[in-house]
Amino acid sequence: MVVKNVLEHIVWQQLDEVLDRFPAMCRCEKCRADIAAYTLNHMKPHYVVSEKGALFAKTQSLDASFKVELLIIMSEAVKQVQAHPRHE
Ligand SMILES: [Zn+2]
Repeated sequence: MVVKNVLEHIVWQQLDEVLDRFPAMCRCEKCRADIAAYTLNHMKPHYVVSEKGALFAKTQSLDASFKVELLIIMSEAVKQVQAHPRHE
């Protein structure tokens, strides 16, 4: 059994979808990691106890308001990283 912040998994899962809405955004590894970090720092962690394979099922059952909040914060994250990229 492991204790996992399921939010980490969800953020990476949603990242491409969010980036598709910002065609001008850099998609390099650094920027993607910065977007994920910003999002995780601005949301409450969502810990679950999981067995192997159970994590995916959990992420499917998240409620709609949680997903809306996540997408708002991820969009903010993209704007932040776009305004202050850690590279040229
Ligand atoms: Zn970049």
